[in-house]
Amino acid sequence: MDCLFCKIASGAIPAKKVFEDDQAIAFRDINPQAPVHILVVPKKHVGSLAEMGGTQDDKALLGHLLALAAQIARSENLSQGYRTVVNTGPDGGQTVDHLHLHLLGGRAMHWPPG
Ligand code: AMP
Ligand code: ZN
Repeated sequence: MDCLFCKIASGAIPAKKVFEDDQAIAFRDINPQAPVHILVVPKKHVGSLAEMGGTQDDKALLGHLLALAAQIARSENLSQGYRTVVNTGPDGGQTVDHLHLHLLGGRAMHWPPG
């Protein structure tokens, strides 16, 4: 599988890992857009959020990723808040075609996003 985040999940490509369990891995973004910028990634290959259906497995995985983001935000001491983002498809600004959730914090975020 020629997928960057599958290779990071399998350990074939190194990353600054902050958390791992049987379903997901979280690591620091290589090009951080905030003092804390972590990607929460399912180990299973899913191209994007647009591929997620209504199955119980999909719902459980999505819930797990979001709950992990909250857990990691606590461990990173983001007590002032943070932003979670899932870019999807070309218009969403997705550049890596493996589902991932951005956790950004450590500075005030702006709205609307660009
Ligand atoms: P997106 O644009 O939402 O698809 O996000 C992809 C993210 O992956 C970007 O923020 C990149 O900086 C990040 N990224 C790309 N390659 C790596 C890598 N080898 N390790 C960590 N993060 C990466
Ligand atoms: Zn993948």
